[in-house]
Amino acid sequence: MDKVKVLDKTFKVSISEAEIQQRIKEIATQMNKDLEGKAPLFVCILNGAFMFASDLFKQITVEDASITFFRLSSYVGTKSTGKIKLIMGFTEDLKDRTVVVLEDIVDTGITMQNTIEQIEGHNPKEIYIATLIHKPEACKVPLKLDYIGFDVPNKFIVGYGLDYDLMGRNLPEIYTLDEDEK
Ligand code: 5GP
Ligand code: MG
Repeated sequence: MDKVKVLDKTFKVSISEAEIQQRIKEIATQMNKDLEGKAPLFVCILNGAFMFASDLFKQITVEDASITFFRLSSYVGTKSTGKIKLIMGFTEDLKDRTVVVLEDIVDTGITMQNTIEQIEGHNPKEIYIATLIHKPEACKVPLKLDYIGFDVPNKFIVGYGLDYDLMGRNLPEIYTLDEDEK
């Protein structure tokens, strides 16, 4: 599908399903080297990262890898509200663990910075950050992103876990808001 309508807006395909899957395979291969012997705990940031986390985690082969979930909410409509609400924290003991944060998208970076601060409070040994999508032009805070799937322009996207007002998460490709529409 080249174009999709999600609620009132039209989106054009920008990253195909095959490109996403290929890139995830490459990231997993790199992680399997970097994380060997570290018994990493993956932390999937809900809701958006669930699809990325699922496809990636299936390809992680390092011994004693586990996954948990952390839920934050920051967006209303297509603009960031700048407010981050913690909806669900975790119960796992992170002390001295290697933690790998899995995020769908780093836009301004504020959500990620907030997430990292919260995780650091649990005294992990080290934190790796993986994001499927990065918007370099939108980034407002310094972040060390260890794994980036794709750099994209500063435009609103949907699909592959990312929503527009809760819709569009089920699309297997990533779509960008059509230029002709605002
Ligand atoms: P940040 O705090 O980096 O500005 O925003 C991070 C969160 O905002 C992401 O986890 C994601 O949920 C949401 N977000 C940012 N940009 C987009 C976008 O283009 N499309 C969608 N659907 N969500 C976005
Ligand atoms: Mg997210």
